[in-house]
Amino acid sequence: DFGTVADLVRIHGRERPSAPALIHGDAKLSWGELDALVDRIAAGFQRDGVAPGDRIAICALSSLNYAATFLAGLRAGIAVAPLAPSSTPDSLAAMIADCGAKLFFLDRSVATEIDAAGVKIPTKRISFDGSESGTPFADWLPAVGAVPQPVTITPEMAFNLIYSSGTTGTPKGIVQSHKMRWGHVNRGGGSGYGPNCVTLLSTPLYSNTTLVSFFPTMALGGCAVLMEKFDVAKYLDLAQRHKVTHTMLVPVQYRRIMEYPDFGKFDLSSFVMKFCTSAPFSAALKADILARWPGGLIEYYGMTEGGGGCVLIAHEHPDKLATVGRPLPGVDVHLIDEEGNEVATGEIGEIVGRSGSVMNGYWNRPDATEAAIWRNADGVEFIRTGDVGRFDADGFLTLMDRRKDMIISGGFNIYPSDLEAVVLGHPAVADVAVVGVPSDAWGETPVAFVVPKGEADAEEIRSWANAKVGKTQRLSAIKLVDSLPRSAIGKVLKRELRDGYKG
Ligand code: ATP
Ligand code: MG
Repeated sequence: DFGTVADLVRIHGRERPSAPALIHGDAKLSWGELDALVDRIAAGFQRDGVAPGDRIAICALSSLNYAATFLAGLRAGIAVAPLAPSSTPDSLAAMIADCGAKLFFLDRSVATEIDAAGVKIPTKRISFDGSESGTPFADWLPAVGAVPQPVTITPEMAFNLIYSSGTTGTPKGIVQSHKMRWGHVNRGGGSGYGPNCVTLLSTPLYSNTTLVSFFPTMALGGCAVLMEKFDVAKYLDLAQRHKVTHTMLVPVQYRRIMEYPDFGKFDLSSFVMKFCTSAPFSAALKADILARWPGGLIEYYGMTEGGGGCVLIAHEHPDKLATVGRPLPGVDVHLIDEEGNEVATGEIGEIVGRSGSVMNGYWNRPDATEAAIWRNADGVEFIRTGDVGRFDADGFLTLMDRRKDMIISGGFNIYPSDLEAVVLGHPAVADVAVVGVPSDAWGETPVAFVVPKGEADAEEIRSWANAKVGKTQRLSAIKLVDSLPRSAIGKVLKRELRDGYKG
């Protein structure tokens, strides 16, 4: 019998019915309550004719019902497509049509935007929080005690369909299987998730970044504390109040927490392990966290598609904080050049990887799936990450940039990440992003967008930084900005910076 994460929810519900499973604001669900709610929602899917292998879509802020609906999809063998509330109404309609969702769960904020834009989505709407926007969830939900018909789930069946964040282009639906998610749960077990863990999640539930922490917490019987929106003071208060042991945060959130003047006033001694993934995480910030925030720190490098996963156990390797660590157990990572040949150790190349935890493919996009594959001389398939990096002699991977962000200036390759690391070293710089912009003389030339810490002189920062880099790498300009454009999950949108640059 192939067990699913939802089977484990059932087991926790029976064995520890009154232990806490989910917390959101003042609302709570025990394991017994969660198990019963998951049954009712799964029975609702079946009543509405949603069959194993079908998809449902959810676009809403994190809530108890959202989490339970996701778990109910697993119990009924239905793939959940969790969509970003920050998506435009048109792109939501496109994703729902693309995945053929049979039901669309949403909340008032999302519904208001869709309706105001006049976008029609024919899929049946169920609203978590209001009657204007669709059938109220409470009315849709089958009666207390309802249970679904058992279904057979195989390891290859779709667990969820996640639209890529679109940092670099149009979102593609990434199909992750039950088997792939088990990989994350197994990895989580090694990080101390278990019945006594309390995991604080402040990133949205639609993102793989959140889900790689949420599912191990649930599968292993811990308690997840959900936040709708990140706020430093609220985060620290929740961490102290619920004696949080585990958390997943993205780098920009870590930075804001460490900069918070009252950070030291909170009791964070309950922390066992903190996680980070999704965007460049500076070595200085990691060091600061290790020095001032109790518990361990683990950084993951990977992508929703799977394949290239690396892990840096920062508290064990304080000398390797500038890297994203080494390949996870069972992950085979190689670097290739533009011609698709492997590069020698120490040289820079595109990261390709393979493991038991990879996507089934991009939904409805066989060409994109094929384009994401690199084959070695023996025909073994690896996933291309589009990221560029370099291994050191100890096998630690330094991540450079996305291939699309590399700058070619006067025939030389410039890695924005190299320049960003230099500029970040200036005492007046809080944050920076370097992009290539068109140049008549060089083809492309690097410019830096800098968020200063108070008063700063752009020319002074530029000459300071240019004195530290090679002649061919010099920044042509520094623009001071209040903040960098970021996606909802905190990734810098370099495309927007490039498109908006006016010299
Ligand atoms: P899209 O594919 O739609 O452009 P995306 O690549 O941002 O979106 P994700 O799968 O969420 O979507 O993110 C994976 C990417 O995030 C990686 O390819 C890498 O560029 C970046 N990334 C992940 N982990 C790290 C990390 N630890 N440090 C730096 N960058 C990271
Ligand atoms: Mg990607």
